[in-house]
Amino acid sequence: MQAHRLRRTLGYLWAAPCSLLGLLLALPLLLCGARAGRQQGALEIALWPDDKVRRLPFAAITFGHVIIGQNRQLLARLRAHEQVHVRQYQRWGVLFLLAYSAASLWLWLRGKRPYRDNPFEVEARRLGDGQQD
Ligand SMILES: [Zn+2]
Repeated sequence: MQAHRLRRTLGYLWAAPCSLLGLLLALPLLLCGARAGRQQGALEIALWPDDKVRRLPFAAITFGHVIIGQNRQLLARLRAHEQVHVRQYQRWGVLFLLAYSAASLWLWLRGKRPYRDNPFEVEARRLGDGQQD
């Protein structure tokens, strides 16, 4: 039990710079009416009411332990996928942003799909969404 608690605390600390970035992004959104809630050890920020979806390049995006999504229904639907990204941040820490971007750039340069083929997304779809590629 102590080892589990220590590992969990270290995961929060290791991902803290990215979580801080997420909080900085979320703060003006919260001041503009976004709603926040805690789910499975992460802070979820819903931008709009559940009946509203806008054309954005993402339905939800994760920074450390902060998940920003268009609305609470989408956040609930995408929770398992985004929680895989939370665990990736816990594993990679601040290096996650660099590794994710580098993987996307590498894929794009090789003529592949920078988002769909990104190994972090492939893992999130496999573990979170139960999809096989
Ligand atoms: Zn993803």
